Amino acid sequence: SSRFIGITTAPPDAILGLTEAFAADTNPQKMNLSVGVYKDASGQTPVLKCVKAAEKWLVENEKTKGYLPIDGQADYRRHVRNLIFGDCVESDRVSVVQTPGGTGALRVAAGFLNSQLAPIRVWISTPTWANHNAVFTSEHVPQEAYRYLADDKKSFDLDGMIDDLTNNTRPGDAVLLHACCHNPTGVDPTAEQWDQIASVVAEKRLLPIIDFAYQGFGNGLAEDTVAVRAILKVCDEAIVCSSFSKNFGLYSERVGAISILSGDAEMAGAVQSQLKTLVRSNYSNPPRHGAAVVATILDDADLTQMWHDELTEMRTRIKRLRQQFVETMKKTGKGHDFGFLLDQNGMFSFSGLNKMQVDELKNKHSIYIVGSGRINVAGMSEDRMDQLCAAIADVIE
Ligand code: PMP
Repeated sequence: SSRFIGITTAPPDAILGLTEAFAADTNPQKMNLSVGVYKDASGQTPVLKCVKAAEKWLVENEKTKGYLPIDGQADYRRHVRNLIFGDCVESDRVSVVQTPGGTGALRVAAGFLNSQLAPIRVWISTPTWANHNAVFTSEHVPQEAYRYLADDKKSFDLDGMIDDLTNNTRPGDAVLLHACCHNPTGVDPTAEQWDQIASVVAEKRLLPIIDFAYQGFGNGLAEDTVAVRAILKVCDEAIVCSSFSKNFGLYSERVGAISILSGDAEMAGAVQSQLKTLVRSNYSNPPRHGAAVVATILDDADLTQMWHDELTEMRTRIKRLRQQFVETMKKTGKGHDFGFLLDQNGMFSFSGLNKMQVDELKNKHSIYIVGSGRINVAGMSEDRMDQLCAAIADVIE
Protein backbone atom coordinates (compact mmCIF):
# COMPACT_ATOMS: atom_id res chain seq x y z
CA SER A 1 0.00 0.00 0.00
CA SER A 2 1.09 3.56 -0.58
CA ARG A 3 2.87 5.43 2.19
CA PHE A 4 0.93 8.52 1.05
CA ILE A 5 -2.46 6.87 1.60
CA GLY A 6 -3.08 8.71 4.87
CA ILE A 7 -2.36 12.15 3.49
CA THR A 8 -5.44 14.34 3.55
CA THR A 9 -6.09 17.28 1.27
CA ALA A 10 -5.17 20.63 2.80
CA PRO A 11 -7.79 23.38 2.60
CA PRO A 12 -7.22 25.68 -0.38
CA ASP A 13 -5.95 29.21 0.22
CA ALA A 14 -9.14 31.22 0.74
CA ILE A 15 -8.22 34.13 -1.49
CA LEU A 16 -6.61 32.09 -4.28
CA GLY A 17 -9.73 29.87 -4.19
CA LEU A 18 -11.80 32.94 -5.03
CA THR A 19 -9.51 33.61 -8.00
CA GLU A 20 -10.32 30.14 -9.33
CA ALA A 21 -14.05 30.66 -8.86
CA PHE A 22 -13.72 34.02 -10.62
CA ALA A 23 -11.94 32.45 -13.58
CA ALA A 24 -14.75 29.89 -13.92
CA ASP A 25 -17.52 32.53 -13.72
CA THR A 26 -19.05 33.06 -17.18
CA ASN A 27 -20.82 36.33 -16.38
CA PRO A 28 -19.23 38.98 -18.66
CA GLN A 29 -19.98 41.60 -15.97
CA LYS A 30 -17.83 39.83 -13.35
CA MET A 31 -15.47 41.84 -11.18
CA ASN A 32 -12.57 40.60 -9.02
CA LEU A 33 -11.83 42.75 -5.98
CA SER A 34 -10.28 39.98 -3.92
CA VAL A 35 -6.63 39.54 -4.91
CA GLY A 36 -3.91 41.77 -3.50
CA VAL A 37 -2.33 43.25 -6.57
CA TYR A 38 -2.49 46.74 -8.04
CA LYS A 39 -4.42 47.22 -11.27
CA ASP A 40 -4.41 50.15 -13.65
CA ALA A 41 -7.39 51.67 -15.45
CA SER A 42 -7.35 48.88 -18.04
CA GLY A 43 -7.45 46.21 -15.35
CA GLN A 44 -3.82 45.17 -15.87
CA THR A 45 -1.02 44.76 -13.34
CA PRO A 46 1.61 46.47 -15.49
CA VAL A 47 5.39 46.22 -15.46
CA LEU A 48 6.56 49.69 -14.39
CA LYS A 49 8.41 51.68 -17.06
CA CYS A 50 11.40 52.15 -14.76
CA VAL A 51 11.54 48.37 -14.33
CA LYS A 52 11.43 47.80 -18.10
CA ALA A 53 14.26 50.30 -18.56
CA ALA A 54 16.37 48.67 -15.84
CA GLU A 55 15.72 45.22 -17.31
CA LYS A 56 16.79 46.40 -20.74
CA TRP A 57 20.01 47.73 -19.25
CA LEU A 58 20.55 44.47 -17.35
CA VAL A 59 20.05 42.30 -20.44
CA GLU A 60 22.84 44.18 -22.13
CA ASN A 61 25.19 44.60 -19.19
CA GLU A 62 24.68 41.81 -16.72
CA LYS A 63 27.81 39.67 -16.72
CA THR A 64 26.88 36.60 -14.74
CA LYS A 65 24.10 34.52 -13.30
CA GLY A 66 26.44 33.20 -10.62
CA TYR A 67 25.12 32.90 -7.09
CA LEU A 68 24.61 36.01 -5.00
CA PRO A 69 26.10 36.07 -1.49
CA ILE A 70 23.89 34.35 1.11
CA ASP A 71 22.71 37.73 2.41
CA GLY A 72 22.16 39.19 -1.05
CA GLN A 73 23.52 41.94 -3.28
CA ALA A 74 25.43 44.64 -1.39
CA ASP A 75 24.09 47.64 -3.36
CA TYR A 76 20.56 46.40 -2.97
CA ARG A 77 21.01 46.02 0.77
CA ARG A 78 22.38 49.57 1.03
CA HIS A 79 19.34 50.94 -0.82
CA VAL A 80 16.96 49.01 1.44
CA ARG A 81 18.68 50.50 4.49
CA ASN A 82 18.41 54.03 3.09
CA LEU A 83 14.77 53.72 2.07
CA ILE A 84 13.61 52.34 5.41
CA PHE A 85 15.92 53.90 7.96
CA GLY A 86 17.21 57.02 6.19
CA ASP A 87 19.63 58.55 8.64
CA CYS A 88 17.54 57.62 11.72
CA VAL A 89 20.19 55.23 13.06
CA GLU A 90 23.90 54.46 12.61
CA SER A 91 24.08 52.22 9.56
CA ASP A 92 26.54 49.77 11.16
CA ARG A 93 23.84 48.82 13.68
CA VAL A 94 21.54 47.52 10.94
CA SER A 95 21.90 44.00 9.52
CA VAL A 96 20.14 43.77 6.16
CA VAL A 97 19.56 40.48 4.38
CA GLN A 98 17.91 40.28 0.96
CA THR A 99 15.02 37.79 0.99
CA PRO A 100 12.55 36.26 -1.47
CA GLY A 101 9.78 38.84 -0.97
CA GLY A 102 8.28 40.13 2.24
CA THR A 103 7.05 36.64 3.04
CA GLY A 104 10.62 35.36 2.90
CA ALA A 105 11.63 38.18 5.26
CA LEU A 106 8.90 37.27 7.73
CA ARG A 107 9.87 33.62 7.55
CA VAL A 108 13.54 34.43 8.27
CA ALA A 109 12.39 36.71 11.13
CA ALA A 110 10.30 33.88 12.58
CA GLY A 111 13.28 31.53 12.21
CA PHE A 112 15.48 34.07 14.01
CA LEU A 113 12.98 34.27 16.90
CA ASN A 114 12.90 30.49 17.08
CA SER A 115 16.63 29.88 16.84
CA GLN A 116 18.00 32.85 18.82
CA LEU A 117 15.30 34.23 21.11
CA ALA A 118 13.07 31.31 22.13
CA PRO A 119 11.04 31.07 24.19
CA ILE A 120 9.40 34.15 22.74
CA ARG A 121 5.78 34.88 21.84
CA VAL A 122 4.61 37.19 19.09
CA TRP A 123 1.57 39.45 19.41
CA ILE A 124 -0.39 39.86 16.18
CA SER A 125 -3.23 42.29 15.35
CA THR A 126 -6.85 41.18 15.04
CA PRO A 127 -7.46 40.91 12.16
CA THR A 128 -4.27 40.49 10.16
CA TRP A 129 -2.94 39.11 6.88
CA ALA A 130 -3.71 35.38 7.22
CA ASN A 131 -0.20 34.32 6.26
CA HIS A 132 1.24 36.01 9.37
CA ASN A 133 -0.13 33.25 11.58
CA ALA A 134 0.95 30.54 9.16
CA VAL A 135 4.53 31.83 8.94
CA PHE A 136 5.06 32.01 12.71
CA THR A 137 3.36 28.63 13.18
CA SER A 138 5.82 27.12 10.68
CA GLU A 139 8.69 28.28 12.88
CA HIS A 140 7.00 27.16 16.11
CA VAL A 141 6.64 30.68 17.48
CA PRO A 142 3.63 30.90 19.86
CA GLN A 143 1.16 33.65 18.98
CA GLU A 144 -1.14 35.96 20.89
CA ALA A 145 -3.68 38.43 19.50
CA TYR A 146 -3.97 42.13 20.29
CA ARG A 147 -7.06 44.20 19.57
CA TYR A 148 -6.77 46.45 16.52
CA LEU A 149 -10.01 47.02 14.59
CA ALA A 150 -12.81 48.53 16.64
CA ASP A 151 -16.20 46.83 16.92
CA ASP A 152 -17.65 49.20 14.32
CA LYS A 153 -15.27 47.47 11.85
CA LYS A 154 -14.32 50.90 10.53
CA SER A 155 -11.97 52.51 12.98
CA PHE A 156 -8.82 51.88 14.98
CA ASP A 157 -9.20 50.56 18.53
CA LEU A 158 -6.27 52.46 20.04
CA ASP A 159 -7.40 51.87 23.63
CA GLY A 160 -7.80 48.14 23.05
CA MET A 161 -4.36 47.81 21.47
CA ILE A 162 -2.65 49.86 24.19
CA ASP A 163 -4.50 47.89 26.88
CA ASP A 164 -3.43 44.53 25.42
CA LEU A 165 0.19 45.58 24.93
CA THR A 166 0.37 47.15 28.39
CA ASN A 167 -1.47 44.60 30.50
CA ASN A 168 -1.36 41.28 28.66
CA THR A 169 2.14 41.04 27.21
CA ARG A 170 5.17 39.83 29.11
CA PRO A 171 8.43 41.78 28.90
CA GLY A 172 10.47 40.29 26.08
CA ASP A 173 7.51 39.28 23.90
CA ALA A 174 7.59 40.34 20.25
CA VAL A 175 4.87 42.45 18.63
CA LEU A 176 4.12 42.44 14.91
CA LEU A 177 3.15 45.89 13.61
CA HIS A 178 1.91 46.87 10.14
CA ALA A 179 3.97 49.95 9.24
CA CYS A 180 1.25 51.38 6.97
CA CYS A 181 -1.72 50.32 4.84
CA HIS A 182 -2.82 47.67 7.35
CA ASN A 183 -3.84 44.47 5.58
CA PRO A 184 -6.74 43.63 5.56
CA THR A 185 -8.40 46.75 7.05
CA GLY A 186 -6.66 49.81 5.56
CA VAL A 187 -6.95 51.32 9.06
CA ASP A 188 -3.69 52.93 10.27
CA PRO A 189 -2.77 54.71 13.50
CA THR A 190 -1.97 58.45 13.24
CA ALA A 191 1.54 59.78 13.94
CA GLU A 192 0.54 60.67 17.51
CA GLN A 193 -0.98 57.23 18.04
CA TRP A 194 2.24 55.63 16.77
CA ASP A 195 4.14 57.57 19.42
CA GLN A 196 1.80 56.21 22.07
CA ILE A 197 2.18 52.65 20.76
CA ALA A 198 5.97 53.02 20.56
CA SER A 199 6.22 54.18 24.14
CA VAL A 200 4.33 51.11 25.39
CA VAL A 201 6.52 48.85 23.22
CA ALA A 202 9.63 50.46 24.75
CA GLU A 203 8.30 50.44 28.33
CA LYS A 204 7.36 46.78 28.19
CA ARG A 205 10.62 45.94 26.40
CA LEU A 206 8.70 44.30 23.55
CA LEU A 207 10.62 43.42 20.38
CA PRO A 208 8.95 45.28 17.50
CA ILE A 209 8.67 43.39 14.21
CA ILE A 210 7.53 45.87 11.60
CA ASP A 211 5.92 44.47 8.46
CA PHE A 212 6.57 47.07 5.76
CA ALA A 213 4.95 45.68 2.61
CA TYR A 214 3.38 48.90 1.26
CA GLN A 215 5.92 51.73 1.53
CA GLY A 216 4.71 54.50 -0.78
CA PHE A 217 1.15 53.20 -1.10
CA GLY A 218 -0.17 55.17 1.89
CA ASN A 219 0.97 58.78 1.86
CA GLY A 220 4.41 58.66 0.21
CA LEU A 221 7.79 56.96 0.53
CA ALA A 222 9.05 59.19 3.34
CA GLU A 223 5.63 59.77 4.95
CA ASP A 224 5.02 56.03 5.24
CA THR A 225 8.05 55.57 7.50
CA VAL A 226 6.07 57.23 10.31
CA ALA A 227 5.75 53.98 12.30
CA VAL A 228 9.40 53.04 11.79
CA ARG A 229 10.52 56.48 12.97
CA ALA A 230 8.24 56.39 16.03
CA ILE A 231 9.59 53.00 17.05
CA LEU A 232 13.25 53.86 16.41
CA LYS A 233 12.95 56.99 18.53
CA VAL A 234 12.42 54.88 21.65
CA CYS A 235 13.59 51.31 20.88
CA ASP A 236 17.18 50.33 20.24
CA GLU A 237 16.32 46.91 18.85
CA ALA A 238 13.82 46.21 16.07
CA ILE A 239 13.13 43.99 13.07
CA VAL A 240 11.75 45.31 9.78
CA CYS A 241 10.42 42.94 7.10
CA SER A 242 10.04 44.80 3.83
CA SER A 243 8.86 44.04 0.33
CA PHE A 244 9.19 45.61 -3.11
CA SER A 245 6.36 43.48 -4.51
CA LYS A 246 3.83 46.30 -4.45
CA ASN A 247 5.79 49.54 -4.75
CA PHE A 248 7.91 48.30 -7.68
CA GLY A 249 5.21 45.95 -9.02
CA LEU A 250 7.80 43.15 -8.83
CA TYR A 251 5.42 40.60 -7.29
CA SER A 252 6.68 37.46 -9.01
CA GLU A 253 10.36 38.40 -8.84
CA ARG A 254 10.35 37.92 -5.05
CA VAL A 255 12.18 40.98 -3.80
CA GLY A 256 12.26 41.75 -0.08
CA ALA A 257 14.54 42.15 2.91
CA ILE A 258 14.82 41.61 6.62
CA SER A 259 16.59 44.40 8.49
CA ILE A 260 17.49 43.99 12.14
CA LEU A 261 18.54 46.93 14.28
CA SER A 262 20.89 45.99 17.12
CA GLY A 263 22.26 48.02 20.03
CA ASP A 264 25.75 48.29 18.54
CA ALA A 265 27.83 47.24 15.53
CA GLU A 266 29.27 44.16 17.20
CA MET A 267 25.85 42.69 17.97
CA ALA A 268 24.73 43.61 14.45
CA GLY A 269 27.60 41.52 13.08
CA ALA A 270 26.59 38.51 15.15
CA VAL A 271 22.95 38.94 14.10
CA GLN A 272 23.96 39.14 10.43
CA SER A 273 25.92 35.89 10.76
CA GLN A 274 22.93 34.11 12.32
CA LEU A 275 20.60 35.36 9.60
CA LYS A 276 22.99 33.93 7.02
CA THR A 277 22.97 30.58 8.79
CA LEU A 278 19.16 30.55 8.66
CA VAL A 279 19.12 31.41 4.95
CA ARG A 280 21.79 28.88 4.03
CA SER A 281 19.78 25.88 5.20
CA ASN A 282 16.53 27.28 3.85
CA TYR A 283 16.94 28.56 0.27
CA SER A 284 20.74 29.01 0.28
CA ASN A 285 20.81 32.44 -1.37
CA PRO A 286 18.28 34.87 -2.84
CA PRO A 287 17.27 35.33 -6.50
CA ARG A 288 19.30 37.87 -8.46
CA HIS A 289 16.99 39.47 -10.98
CA GLY A 290 14.47 41.49 -8.96
CA ALA A 291 17.08 42.89 -6.60
CA ALA A 292 19.30 43.79 -9.56
CA VAL A 293 16.35 45.68 -11.08
CA VAL A 294 15.74 47.62 -7.86
CA ALA A 295 19.43 48.41 -7.39
CA THR A 296 19.77 49.51 -11.05
CA ILE A 297 16.84 51.90 -10.65
CA LEU A 298 17.97 53.33 -7.31
CA ASP A 299 21.57 53.74 -8.55
CA ASP A 300 20.34 56.04 -11.32
CA ALA A 301 18.79 59.47 -10.65
CA ASP A 302 16.57 59.47 -13.75
CA LEU A 303 15.24 55.97 -13.19
CA THR A 304 14.65 56.80 -9.51
CA GLN A 305 12.63 59.85 -10.55
CA MET A 306 10.66 57.69 -12.97
CA TRP A 307 9.94 55.24 -10.14
CA HIS A 308 8.79 58.04 -7.81
CA ASP A 309 6.42 59.29 -10.51
CA GLU A 310 5.00 55.85 -11.24
CA LEU A 311 4.56 55.10 -7.55
CA THR A 312 2.79 58.43 -7.07
CA GLU A 313 0.51 57.55 -9.96
CA MET A 314 -0.44 54.22 -8.33
CA ARG A 315 -1.04 55.85 -4.97
CA THR A 316 -3.15 58.69 -6.31
CA ARG A 317 -5.18 56.35 -8.49
CA ILE A 318 -6.14 54.33 -5.41
CA LYS A 319 -7.10 57.49 -3.52
CA ARG A 320 -9.16 58.67 -6.49
CA LEU A 321 -11.00 55.35 -6.64
CA ARG A 322 -11.79 55.56 -2.91
CA GLN A 323 -13.29 59.00 -3.44
CA GLN A 324 -15.27 57.98 -6.50
CA PHE A 325 -16.60 54.91 -4.68
CA VAL A 326 -17.78 56.93 -1.67
CA GLU A 327 -19.45 59.53 -3.92
CA THR A 328 -21.10 56.92 -6.12
CA MET A 329 -22.45 55.05 -3.06
CA LYS A 330 -24.03 58.32 -1.92
CA LYS A 331 -25.60 58.81 -5.36
CA THR A 332 -27.38 55.47 -5.31
CA GLY A 333 -29.82 57.52 -3.25
CA LYS A 334 -30.07 54.95 -0.51
CA GLY A 335 -28.10 56.92 2.04
CA HIS A 336 -25.12 54.61 2.26
CA ASP A 337 -22.26 56.52 3.82
CA PHE A 338 -18.89 54.92 3.12
CA GLY A 339 -17.00 58.09 4.07
CA PHE A 340 -14.86 56.06 6.48
CA LEU A 341 -13.04 54.62 3.46
CA LEU A 342 -11.41 58.00 2.94
CA ASP A 343 -9.56 57.64 6.25
CA GLN A 344 -8.15 54.27 5.23
CA ASN A 345 -4.84 53.76 3.43
CA GLY A 346 -3.40 51.56 0.74
CA MET A 347 -4.81 48.94 -1.50
CA PHE A 348 -7.31 47.40 0.92
CA SER A 349 -10.36 48.49 2.81
CA PHE A 350 -12.74 46.80 5.14
CA SER A 351 -16.14 47.49 3.64
CA GLY A 352 -18.12 46.41 6.69
CA LEU A 353 -20.05 43.92 4.51
CA ASN A 354 -20.82 40.66 6.31
CA LYS A 355 -20.29 37.13 5.06
CA MET A 356 -23.87 36.81 3.79
CA GLN A 357 -23.64 40.04 1.84
CA VAL A 358 -20.26 38.99 0.42
CA ASP A 359 -21.78 35.68 -0.73
CA GLU A 360 -24.72 37.44 -2.31
CA LEU A 361 -22.39 39.83 -4.14
CA LYS A 362 -20.65 36.82 -5.63
CA ASN A 363 -23.68 34.64 -6.36
CA LYS A 364 -26.05 37.32 -7.61
CA HIS A 365 -23.69 39.93 -9.08
CA SER A 366 -20.45 38.04 -9.89
CA ILE A 367 -18.51 40.50 -7.75
CA TYR A 368 -15.76 38.81 -5.77
CA ILE A 369 -14.48 40.20 -2.49
CA VAL A 370 -12.89 38.41 0.47
CA GLY A 371 -15.23 36.82 3.05
CA SER A 372 -14.11 39.26 5.74
CA GLY A 373 -15.48 42.10 3.62
CA ARG A 374 -12.02 43.20 2.50
CA ILE A 375 -12.09 45.02 -0.83
CA ASN A 376 -9.07 45.57 -3.05
CA VAL A 377 -9.70 49.21 -3.90
CA ALA A 378 -7.00 49.06 -6.57
CA GLY A 379 -9.13 46.47 -8.38
CA MET A 380 -12.04 48.91 -8.83
CA SER A 381 -12.52 50.60 -12.19
CA GLU A 382 -13.73 54.12 -12.91
CA ASP A 383 -15.90 52.90 -15.77
CA ARG A 384 -17.72 50.28 -13.76
CA MET A 385 -18.17 52.13 -10.47
CA ASP A 386 -21.93 52.51 -11.00
CA GLN A 387 -22.32 48.77 -11.46
CA LEU A 388 -20.27 48.03 -8.34
CA CYS A 389 -22.13 50.50 -6.14
CA ALA A 390 -25.57 49.42 -7.36
CA ALA A 391 -24.68 45.81 -6.53
CA ILE A 392 -23.40 46.71 -3.06
CA ALA A 393 -26.49 48.81 -2.39
CA ASP A 394 -28.60 45.82 -3.48
CA VAL A 395 -27.00 43.40 -1.02
CA ILE A 396 -27.07 45.88 1.87
CA GLU A 397 -30.86 46.28 1.64
N1 PMP B 1 2.92 41.45 4.57
C1 PMP B 1 1.72 41.90 4.21
C2 PMP B 1 0.89 42.63 5.21
C3 PMP B 1 1.25 41.67 2.92
O1 PMP B 1 0.05 42.12 2.58
C4 PMP B 1 2.06 40.99 1.99
C5 PMP B 1 1.61 40.74 0.58
N2 PMP B 1 0.33 40.31 0.41
C6 PMP B 1 3.31 40.55 2.43
C7 PMP B 1 3.71 40.81 3.72
C8 PMP B 1 4.26 39.74 1.57
O2 PMP B 1 4.55 40.23 0.38
P1 PMP B 1 5.45 39.44 -0.69
O3 PMP B 1 4.55 39.19 -1.83
O4 PMP B 1 6.55 40.38 -0.99
O5 PMP B 1 5.94 38.18 -0.06
